[in-house]
Amino acid sequence: MLKDFLYRMSSEEGNAIRYRIIYSFCFVVHSFYAILFTLTGVTELMIFNIISSVLYFAGMVFVRNNRFTLIWVVLVILEIISHGLFCSMYLGYDYQFSLFSFSIIPVTYFITYLDPAISHPIIFSSVLSLITGFSIAESMNVDFIREPVYRFPRQFTESVAMLNMVFCILILISFSIMFIGKINYDLKTLKEQNDTLDRLANYDQLTGLRNRNHIREIFEQYIKSTEPYCVILGDIDDFKQVNDTYGHSAGDEVLRTVSDIISGNVGDSGEVCRWGGEEILILLKGTNDACTALTERILSQIRGTVVESGDSRIKITMTFGLCDYGDAMNIEKLISIADERLYIGKNSGKNKVITEN
Ligand code: GH3
Ligand code: MG
Ligand code: MG
Repeated sequence: MLKDFLYRMSSEEGNAIRYRIIYSFCFVVHSFYAILFTLTGVTELMIFNIISSVLYFAGMVFVRNNRFTLIWVVLVILEIISHGLFCSMYLGYDYQFSLFSFSIIPVTYFITYLDPAISHPIIFSSVLSLITGFSIAESMNVDFIREPVYRFPRQFTESVAMLNMVFCILILISFSIMFIGKINYDLKTLKEQNDTLDRLANYDQLTGLRNRNHIREIFEQYIKSTEPYCVILGDIDDFKQVNDTYGHSAGDEVLRTVSDIISGNVGDSGEVCRWGGEEILILLKGTNDACTALTERILSQIRGTVVESGDSRIKITMTFGLCDYGDAMNIEKLISIADERLYIGKNSGKNKVITEN
């Protein structure tokens, strides 16, 4: 569930969610202090905290993606640093209200960097962070040069300081988790895009088979290996006639069916690639005999298949030329031998597997 939330928060719609989290958190903290200062009679800080609570409540309700977020960020930071200053002035620095100013610095960089409405997030955050830094120095300075207006027992001061520390640790932990969530989300999106690009670059759209470029890389590995393998080139018989008789989309359906049959039979024992129009290249691990037997099996399955496209029922055959790794030492030569044998098959009646010249 946390993962789902982090993903939603990291997506495009997440901008408003991030702001809403900040405003809600600030609202809770300021409402708490509005009550505490009412109970302890610190009127100025009570008023300040009531106004702040109203401000954050409005933020929670009205924040929308990419609208006025710049103003809202500035308002939040001004509010936090002036609250720190006021608290230092009226109560003293020991209450550690300026911890909020420290914690808001990484948060500012994080949310502005992700907000598309803010065009120069690093400059913008750096300026705000410098102002925040000055305000922290000023909070310390105020404490040095003047006596606080209100004095409470030491224990009260320590409890408030401790509570502020806890609040700030919570802010930093939650934003660090969101930061990691965002990185994970971006990495996942990038991986999905890479997979899509990989599919587009290396696979044929119509049949889902590997394309010509991709098979060459794999071929290199076969050439280097010491295991026996065969190169098989297949071509659908009279495919032009299929197109002419049943239409191009029926032809496409035939291509898909043939590709599925071949891939299904080859499985993990090799690689299948769309070599050209209706030509398919197979790299098949195994001895000449084993590969010939599998190719014969593929052919008999193709012969026995009826492709249905609209009202048409199409029967097809295919011719294969096969050579094994011992016939040549390089890719081009192996393919050309397979092609030669395919040609022999085409010229001697088609619908067969040829394994020698
Ligand atoms: P042969 O038995 O000698 O191989 O004859 P053939 O008709 O199969 O061979 P030919 O080379 O004369 O024609 C191949 C046809 O394949 C021509 C081309 O329009 C068609 N073709 C190529 N790619 C596709 C495709 O992606 N989809 C469809 N439907 N047809 C294609
Ligand atoms: Mg053909
Ligand atoms: Mg052809």
